[in-house]
Amino acid sequence: MGYVFGPVPSRRLGRSLGVDLVPLKTCSYDCIYCQVGKTTDKTAVPARFNPVEEVLKELEERLRTTDPDVVTFSGSGEPTLHSEIHRVIGRVKELTGTRVAVLTNGSLLWRPEVRERLLAADLVMPTLCTVFEETFQRIHRPQEDLRLETIVDGLKRFREMFQGELSVEVLLLKGINDTEEEIQGLVEAFARIAPDRIQLNTVVRPPSSSEAVPLDRMRLEEIRGLMGEKAEIIADPRVGNGEADRTDLFRAVRGMAERRPIRVRDAADSLSIPMKEAGAIVQALVSEGVLRSREHEGETYFSAV
Ligand code: SF4
Repeated sequence: MGYVFGPVPSRRLGRSLGVDLVPLKTCSYDCIYCQVGKTTDKTAVPARFNPVEEVLKELEERLRTTDPDVVTFSGSGEPTLHSEIHRVIGRVKELTGTRVAVLTNGSLLWRPEVRERLLAADLVMPTLCTVFEETFQRIHRPQEDLRLETIVDGLKRFREMFQGELSVEVLLLKGINDTEEEIQGLVEAFARIAPDRIQLNTVVRPPSSSEAVPLDRMRLEEIRGLMGEKAEIIADPRVGNGEADRTDLFRAVRGMAERRPIRVRDAADSLSIPMKEAGAIVQALVSEGVLRSREHEGETYFSAV
């Protein structure tokens, strides 16, 4: 168990019920901005990772008791690495009218069978951060057989056959893929790929590597202007200005703890809030009976009741 989590609030998707199809940090990339940590199993070969029958059983149970806005394939690794993702998408469609979204790094869409497996989804959200191989290697530290040109071609082919919404995310990093040349290259690639939307994001704080530095709000706005009318900024409102909505923070901490036991510092890191604030939220949720604590090897972990 533990393959389905949430629903958690998502500004982009609404109340999202998440499905984890691959083990923690099984991914074809090892992005310098990854918030989940270093990739431990780097592979570009689809396989049967988490057991589909068990995933389906858990998912069916959750869909009987919750009514999310969307079922999202994401989690802590690359979901298209699962060779039976289409079976799980198909089952959600059989059981409910709920939208299905796939958050993917897009690195496997050059494989015809991977493209086929995603066709029944409503929304596919691949990542494309650059059109330059050197920058691609620097940002994503991909599995050694992967080449950017093939991946961009895969995105274009997928667009040609996919009837749902294709929303490409660009994760922008200061001094790496925010130059005029980088942005112009992306503008040209998007003219060929023709996604429905382009979502501009940045890191809230340097996560996996200190190389990953966020852009400020002003530069994000400039880049949105250059990308045209399909582009929108989805970066956390705390980037550059504004305060996070506290209710959202409570929901997010609860959602994380539903997924796996967390420490206060995990909540602080993941939400980019001070330890003191994360501690106060966790304690309030414990007092409300929403979380419970347990000790493990000298650390205090919190999980949903
Ligand atoms: S693709 Fe996603 S999960 Fe994989 S390393 Fe990059 S950010 Fe992390």
